[in-house]
Amino acid sequence: MFTTTLRPVAAILAVALTLAGCGGGGSSGSDGEDSEVMLATQASIPADMQGVAAKRLFGAEAGPAAMRAASYGFYSKGCLAGGAQLAETGPTWQAMRLSRNRNWGHPEVIDYLQTLSRKAAALPGWSGLYIGDISQPRGGPMLTGHASHQMGLDADIWLLPATRMNLSRAERESISSISLRRSNGAYVNDSWTPQHHELLKAAASDPRVARIFIFPGAKVQMCNDEKGDRSYLRKIRPWYGHHYHFHVRLNCPRGMSGCRDQDPPPAGDGCEDARQWQRNILNPPPPDPNAPKPAPKRELTMADLPGQCVQVLQSR
Ligand SMILES: [Zn+2]
Repeated sequence: MFTTTLRPVAAILAVALTLAGCGGGGSSGSDGEDSEVMLATQASIPADMQGVAAKRLFGAEAGPAAMRAASYGFYSKGCLAGGAQLAETGPTWQAMRLSRNRNWGHPEVIDYLQTLSRKAAALPGWSGLYIGDISQPRGGPMLTGHASHQMGLDADIWLLPATRMNLSRAERESISSISLRRSNGAYVNDSWTPQHHELLKAAASDPRVARIFIFPGAKVQMCNDEKGDRSYLRKIRPWYGHHYHFHVRLNCPRGMSGCRDQDPPPAGDGCEDARQWQRNILNPPPPDPNAPKPAPKRELTMADLPGQCVQVLQSR
């Protein structure tokens, strides 16, 4: 997966310096494409940032970079300038797990979430949205969880119907979302409702959205139930995990040259692919003996990120 052509000393040092603690988590929905452009050059990286896992640098920042709002890089390899904070509580939303300090994003994603929360509040049994991780104040890789969520354009939304908008900080740490899956994600369970369908449809229908990630059984259910316009289904992408929350990924905001979009999803509603995934969950195919071994994951360093991310970290 790594196709970086320059192989800086920092990268080699990084292997030695980053021992354990890969924040895998596996719930990211990143397709892991690598950017071949805009990488920081070795000379432009300050000595104290070289060879350090970027997640340690970004994880140490408590506030945003005082710069014009911009997303740099790619969803799984980038950072955020001028991050905006989603208010901890609004009329139709609450940010969850405040201790993580991940309620930061590009202003576009903040506006998107507030808009969607008003639509959620109009659904029977819902008062708004419980919003999980967006990004760190300056984006970047995280110490725990998520391969993506690095540019302030990804957000996780809980599948638990948000009924109360007055949860305390302590409750937001302790309350759990609910899982909507059955049979390892091949099907939805009894907690799935038509409101979940309407919410995901509204979420995907906003033109700012690139993709929504949710478990395969939910996509198949939506394919079966949708009797009207099906065009939005193209953006509902089946993915691993994603049965306690769904993941929204926005396109790069207009005119943002340092931000790289993911390739658009294949044409069509994607329903047959989702059904194939469902069949594979129910009857797993035998492992392919010729499948290539997955490349070992290496910690990202500043040399892997766009050069602008150095300034994002240095901004005071
Ligand atoms: Zn996510």
